[in-house]
Amino acid sequence: MRSDHSKENTKPRRISELNKQLTILGAGESGIGAAQLGVKQGYDVFVSDAGQISEDRKILLEQYGVEFEEGGHEMARILKSDVVVKSPGIPDKAPLIKSLVAKSIPVISEIEFAYEYLPKGAKVIAITGTNGKTTTTLLTHHLLKSAGLNVALGGNIGISLAKLVAEEEHDYYVVEVSSFQLDGIVRFKPDVAVLLNITPDHLDRYEYDFSKYVASKFRIVENLSHEEAFIYCADSEPVNEEVAKRRIEASLFAVSTTRDTRWNAYMENDHLIFNYQWDDKNQHHAIPVSEISLIGKHNMINSMSAVLSALTLNVPIETVLKALKSFVNAPHRLEPVGTIDGVKFINDSKATNVDSVYYALDGHKSKIIWIAGGIDKGNEYGQIAELVKKKVKSLICLGVDNEKLTSFFGGMVDINETRHISEAVQLALSKAEKGDVVLLSPACASFDLFRNYEDRGDQFRAAVKDLKKLKKAQV
Ligand code: ADP
Repeated sequence: MRSDHSKENTKPRRISELNKQLTILGAGESGIGAAQLGVKQGYDVFVSDAGQISEDRKILLEQYGVEFEEGGHEMARILKSDVVVKSPGIPDKAPLIKSLVAKSIPVISEIEFAYEYLPKGAKVIAITGTNGKTTTTLLTHHLLKSAGLNVALGGNIGISLAKLVAEEEHDYYVVEVSSFQLDGIVRFKPDVAVLLNITPDHLDRYEYDFSKYVASKFRIVENLSHEEAFIYCADSEPVNEEVAKRRIEASLFAVSTTRDTRWNAYMENDHLIFNYQWDDKNQHHAIPVSEISLIGKHNMINSMSAVLSALTLNVPIETVLKALKSFVNAPHRLEPVGTIDGVKFINDSKATNVDSVYYALDGHKSKIIWIAGGIDKGNEYGQIAELVKKKVKSLICLGVDNEKLTSFFGGMVDINETRHISEAVQLALSKAEKGDVVLLSPACASFDLFRNYEDRGDQFRAAVKDLKKLKKAQV
């Protein structure tokens, strides 16, 4: 069990001290994980899902010996629970949640439940933010793993923290955490908390009030003391403002892409500079950007955050350096997918807004053939106009309706349109010269021509492979 903290007296009783009637609302990844852990901890577990539970999950619940219902909630039974674990998808304003709260039944999130049963002495690294969570979580995990630590990876990114805790003891848990999970914490106290940025998102869950979303993200620090590290991005205005407003007890580490002596990690002359005090020692490190496998300024924020996480957990700098070079990110995020005739093809299908495209264009020094388009989500292209003028040789629109792109960039760059990914790839190569980059960074959703962004990225990768084969066969 975790050590207590100063706010202990004001907190409700520990879940483990309550009676053992546990209801889990929602049979998603986190709900199933909570059920598994609940059974292991001797709870009488009931899972209730308003929708349908998939067959493979039903089989799992049966294996755990857990009773479940689907297609609705049996109120009378649920209102007899001692504790309720709520899936992230269920809003606080749902009538069932209101009834539980009115009866003073604790309603917590799955990470809170899992936290209660972490192995003794285990450390948690929790990563949140509107963008960059997955990359930073994977990189942090890779850095700790490269140091030979016994580390688990999970949360929003895949396996729930509850399942990780139920299945095997680890010394470190690197978890991607959403605001919905943070909404249901009580004692959750990560040893390292990372907040990458906050931009308006999910506002429907926060009464369209941005400050409520910001407050939710900042719950990640509410139980921290000076012993714990809070790493945050000072380039994100809402984050910076909130840090200045609050009295945060954690040890603060500010990260930025611009040099300033106030920041503990920043970029300067193609280096990442680290300057901070930890364990009563002054620490200074400089890492050349060329030693990092990730590209783009946003990824330098992610890299500095991950590196600081590792360094504060005493991973040696030499290990960090080696591991930064060997890191391979999740697919569809500035993923190199092949080189043909000296032209590099990059899949950034996950970039479904203009902000992401900005980072992608900015991250490349060479000239770019840019493939974009799909379903526009209200894009304003003004913020990338200068970059496009400077770097883009040719724009290939890949969408059913390309009107917004063609009217904005018409006259600025050479434009072609297609609805076929293989044609887009061929066209792109015909426009490129050796040393150029072909970048799929659509700024749009994919549903007009593809199932989802993964499908779009996979088809792009396959088309590049096919073209490469064809070229070879022609030689
Ligand atoms: P998340 O898990 O939060 O969605 P990802 O690591 O999957 O984040 O990155 C999603 C997209 O967000 C990337 O394709 C990139 O365009 C953008 N992104 C990544 N990191 C950052 C960052 N630190 N700041 C702003 N945008 C970012």
